Amino acid sequence: MSHVLHRDLRNPLPTAVKGDGPYVIDSAGKRYLDASGGPAVSCIGHNHPKVIEAVRRQVGEISFAYSAFFTHPAMEALADTLTAQAPAGLSHAFFVSGGSEAIEAAMKLARQYFLEIGQPQRKHFIARERSYHGNTLGALSLGHDFNRRQTYEPLLLPVTHISPCYEYRERRADESAEQYGLRIANELEAAILKQGPETVAAFFAEPIAGSSLGCAEPVPGYLARLREICDRYGVLLVFDEVMCGMGRTGHLYACAEDGVTPDILTMAKGLGAGYQPIGAFLAHDKIVGALEKGSGQLKHGHTYAGHTMSCAAALAVQQVIAEENLLDRVKDLSTKLRARLNDAFGQHPHVGDIRGRGLFIGLELVADRETKQAFDPAEKKWLKFRQAGMAEGLITYPAAGCIDGKSGDHITLAPPFNLTDAQLDEIIEKMGTALKQTI
Ligand code: PLP
Repeated sequence: MSHVLHRDLRNPLPTAVKGDGPYVIDSAGKRYLDASGGPAVSCIGHNHPKVIEAVRRQVGEISFAYSAFFTHPAMEALADTLTAQAPAGLSHAFFVSGGSEAIEAAMKLARQYFLEIGQPQRKHFIARERSYHGNTLGALSLGHDFNRRQTYEPLLLPVTHISPCYEYRERRADESAEQYGLRIANELEAAILKQGPETVAAFFAEPIAGSSLGCAEPVPGYLARLREICDRYGVLLVFDEVMCGMGRTGHLYACAEDGVTPDILTMAKGLGAGYQPIGAFLAHDKIVGALEKGSGQLKHGHTYAGHTMSCAAALAVQQVIAEENLLDRVKDLSTKLRARLNDAFGQHPHVGDIRGRGLFIGLELVADRETKQAFDPAEKKWLKFRQAGMAEGLITYPAAGCIDGKSGDHITLAPPFNLTDAQLDEIIEKMGTALKQTI
């Protein structure tokens, strides 16, 4: 009997004892090819010698330095590395322990910014329907995932939710992708006007919607229009790149491909690549400048903010990505993976859509390809697929669609950037078997 309070109290989990590149090995010696890096975390696979060495060196030097009392070289170097590659203006980094903490910190920074510049009435947040931004109460309030929110609804902040960018189901037949993007981006303007522009602090969105919409990417012009609207009403634009960032699209920052710069950018998951827990936000000069001129303090912090080993690991991950040219490898693997997925499942009667960017690819499962009708949620096809994949030795990240059928069950693939071509083939073959057993 386990004394761990596992998330699933009925079905025992396999015991992971070892990693081998992109494989997880359990206590029975079974190997699982991790085609999603858990939930888009393990972006360079397991046991990379450079990251192991960096963490070992760091713990030998100093294991902990409280960020209210000290800075330290790994944190400074990591901030330099991340801001040097960021869109212009995102000049400062703040480090936390994970994605939800990064979102909470971003919400609090937005609130503090408006106090510092004399607009204390700005405290309302806008986010998108069918989104996920984390499981702590602030982050859960921003998100709009029924399954995750339902239990905690009375504890959540009031947040306005607008439509996500979800071309597969929501672009009308009579509009181009650009027209669709404008139409839904304009919902932000309507929401700001309805709420009262002087009361809105920030709008949060993932450039590519990950866990709740299976890699639904922005249509051309959509992110730029959001930027324009935020600027018009003095609202901060926050891009949540916890899942889609850190190289997963073939660019260190997903928003770079669209050329749109947010005021705050959150990251986690691939930042530490699973070697250490770490998240962060990057903040724009204008925000940091306001704090400098105003109270001179960031009011938010946690005990483990900027942890030495987390920063050392994340810095080493960045060095591996640069030295091994992994952003180019992501682009190359992406083309190959898309081609293989299209060959294998492009005409599959129950795969409605294959989408995403880089090595962040989603497949939407449907009961009927022609009508796009989703599977009955009670059938839990997503869970069946996950279980069938695990039985085959394949890890993917499937998730349930909306209970109202507004989105179908989907499977997210987010494999390591240093996968071999043969491992791509293994993913496709095992997915084929898992799909046969699911439907
Ligand atoms: N934001 C996004 C887009 C996420 O996908 C997640 C986690 O899946 C989070 C925030 C929360 O991150 P964490 O689970 O590290 O707290």
